[in-house]
Amino acid sequence: MALLTKAVKGTQDMLPCDTGRHRFLENTLLEIAGSFGFKEIRTPVFEHTELFQRGVGETTDVVQKEMYTFDDKGGRSITLRPEGTAGAVRAFLEHGLFNEALPQKLCYVLNCYRYEKPQAGRWREFQQFGVEMFGSASPAADAEVISVANEIFTFLGVKDLELQLNSIGCPECRKNYHAALKEYFEGFKGELCGTCLERLDKNPMRILDCKSPVCSKIAADSPVITDYLCDECREHFEGVQKYLDAMGISYKINPRIVRGLDYYTRTVFEFVSTAIGSQGTVCGGGRYDGLVEELGGPKTPALGFGMGTGRLKMVMAAQGIELPEDSKCDIYIAPMDAEAAFKAMALATDLRSSGIHAETDVVGRSLKAQMKYADKIGAKYTAVIGSDELKDNKTKVKNMETGVSTELSLDNFEDNFLRLTINEAASGIADDSDLNVSLTDLLGNID
Ligand code: ATP
Ligand code: MG
Repeated sequence: MALLTKAVKGTQDMLPCDTGRHRFLENTLLEIAGSFGFKEIRTPVFEHTELFQRGVGETTDVVQKEMYTFDDKGGRSITLRPEGTAGAVRAFLEHGLFNEALPQKLCYVLNCYRYEKPQAGRWREFQQFGVEMFGSASPAADAEVISVANEIFTFLGVKDLELQLNSIGCPECRKNYHAALKEYFEGFKGELCGTCLERLDKNPMRILDCKSPVCSKIAADSPVITDYLCDECREHFEGVQKYLDAMGISYKINPRIVRGLDYYTRTVFEFVSTAIGSQGTVCGGGRYDGLVEELGGPKTPALGFGMGTGRLKMVMAAQGIELPEDSKCDIYIAPMDAEAAFKAMALATDLRSSGIHAETDVVGRSLKAQMKYADKIGAKYTAVIGSDELKDNKTKVKNMETGVSTELSLDNFEDNFLRLTINEAASGIADDSDLNVSLTDLLGNID
């Protein structure tokens, strides 16, 4: 039975008490990206395994160790997406988006799957918010993509994230760097982990990304890429910094970040928090000028980032930042008998068509039990409908916070209720002249 009542290791449920806040977060992320012109794209949860092998890179941890790969019933090798970039690039190519106005700016919120050791900030199913921009090689694009993440943190009030910036150059200037790294790591052949030994020939830069304490310690003194950049890459890197300076976005150059995907070129960056322990990278991204071509498309400079919303929420929680909850029930209408129940249902329907969150009895409870329920769900107002109310065609609407009751006609009840809530809100802030003006305007509109 335990198997039936426990979620799979590394996965989490999000319960109704949290989904409202989370939806607010998702909308905020998409809206902020939208203010830069990024439009949402939705791609499938699974893709051909080869897409990730090519798109993420054969020598990465993700492809070598972390993918959820299986054969479907038709014998195809399928993989649950471990990240969002490969699918976005595939869709960009499949639908010829490169023929549309460039740069194409895409964003997404999606679940990703990686077979990792579950721990704080690391799950097997997790959500990423990401942006991708296709069609600009200019350092202005790098700075703009970075500023999307920066804007998100500023808007949410997240503090103390350090933007770490690096350039890992182009394949040309990386040739010399690879040679230098190889020479350096050859000296530690006896100590490197098995995976890194294999990487020594194929892609020595990957060793810098290894999580094993021994490898990271050795990597700490390795040659740095910034000493090997060609003139063009150096100029590009300086350009990114000038734009960031112009936007007032502070950063620290960390010549040892290389990021987890193989196809990064030039700019790579991470936003790192010290507030949530060792899984401190909330957002990571960079330029991948070679990827679109690698996946069979026209040569297209591109870049993007991925931000783990789970880690973002951990940082926010550590800093005491709360997201707004779902709106509570505006009015609970309690019928006293079967006859009144029909009227209560009709009133609730009219209220909802006016955008009001209205609830009524669907259980057949006593008035007392209904009031208990209204209290539990935090209803802001309640109204009782019985035979007297039906006869007089009016009811008393009670503000549950102040205890004040107001009699309202049941004709156009939704308009009467709306006017009451606005009046009460206005009187509650009578001292604030600015707000009074706009509320008076609003009342004028409603009358
Ligand atoms: P890490 O170094 O922490 O393993 P990564 O380099 O594998 O991160 P990316 O592939 O760049 O991460 O993914 C972008 C972001 O997605 C990360 O910065 C992080 O916020 C989030 N992320 C990655 N893996 C996980 C995971 N297993 N659980 C939760 N969030 C994750
Ligand atoms: Mg990882």
